[in-house]
Amino acid sequence: MNRRILLQRLLSMPFLGGFLGGLAAGRGSTSAATIGMAAHRDYFQELGLRTFINAAGTLTSLSGSLMPDEVVDAIDYARRHYVGLDDIQTRVGERIAELLGCEAATVTSGAFSAMTLGLAGVMCGMDREKVAQLPDATGMKNEVVKLKSEHYIDYVHALLNTGATVIEVNTLKELEDSINDRTAMLFVLNAYNDSEVGHEELVAVGKEHGIPTFNDCAADVPPVENLWKYTDMGYDLVAFSGGKGLRGPQSAGLLLGRADLITAARLHTPPRGDTIGRGMKVNKEEVLAMLVALELYVEKDHDEEWKLWEGQIAHISDTVKTVSGTQTEVHVPEIANHVPTLSITWDQSRIPLAPTDAKQRLREGHPSIETGGGSDGLSLSTWMMRPGEERIVARRIREVLTEAST
Ligand SMILES: *Cc1c(COP(=O)(O)O)cnc(C)c1O
Repeated sequence: MNRRILLQRLLSMPFLGGFLGGLAAGRGSTSAATIGMAAHRDYFQELGLRTFINAAGTLTSLSGSLMPDEVVDAIDYARRHYVGLDDIQTRVGERIAELLGCEAATVTSGAFSAMTLGLAGVMCGMDREKVAQLPDATGMKNEVVKLKSEHYIDYVHALLNTGATVIEVNTLKELEDSINDRTAMLFVLNAYNDSEVGHEELVAVGKEHGIPTFNDCAADVPPVENLWKYTDMGYDLVAFSGGKGLRGPQSAGLLLGRADLITAARLHTPPRGDTIGRGMKVNKEEVLAMLVALELYVEKDHDEEWKLWEGQIAHISDTVKTVSGTQTEVHVPEIANHVPTLSITWDQSRIPLAPTDAKQRLREGHPSIETGGGSDGLSLSTWMMRPGEERIVARRIREVLTEAST
């Protein structure tokens, strides 16, 4: 295929067509013009993707959260300059540790990779041969003892990826009995600790046996204090997602904790190549953006934001309740998605509409709205909306329920 035919074919494709069409017409001969043109393109529409109002929360499948302008500015700044990848990780890690008052920190590709890298660091220390040996964990401390959690299925692979095995325990006695020469780490999923062992007890057992403890707090801001609560409590390592409540890049995350363990964890990360973490690269843009997102998050007025959410929830509740047969209830989940959350239920004899069908109608309407909740009713929060969208959501839910009323 010669270049001309190739170009013609590309021009016929809606996505690239706009971009190359500009170049072919001589409009895009400078990069500034190309960027200016790009700003006016509706990429998601070109791709046939529908955007939506997010009333469901920081779900991974719904692309997490929206980055504030300052975070995007940091990406745009970083993309213009070269910098050593290890150097930016080191400096940003130091800044994050200062900001949160922990010993050390590093930006990872999500909380999931923070778990893998943290454990890998614990297992291998500064031994480069061990680093290269993973995921074959033969001859190393390779067992993780995890407190029981009924909802914990998805993320255990983060630990298994190192080659370690995971043993689940429920009681303090089971925890102590499970510890042996091969025990590498003690682990808890903060939001779903269904065991009888509390945080202080887990940390104490870890210290007594000299075994590092890890707390997965991925979705656990707000409250902001959680960013330092668990390292202060004595956990050796703590993980957070960057792209949930923190509103950094969705594919970034944080590993916080002991300096020796963070240094060891980083031996598994790029630019080093002979490691299990080589595919967990975080580019300079996202490393910097994560810092800026965190600064914004720590500095913001959390009380004011909470009042905003309460007001938005009250508005939706008041609007929806005007449909007779509808009940609403506000609650705040204790850990993870700790924000005002509205449950909407209705008397099915007066409004014969299954909640899953209501969800579907909201999704398919204009604009599309994603809500949470199961077969009992709708559940929604406003923290992932843009200001003002609560009015649209309130109106649409009222409309859907009114239309279905007998
Ligand atoms: C979201 C989540 C993760 C994974 O976090 P990423 O930042 O998406 O890698 C791990 N653990 C829990 C409890 C989570 O909620």
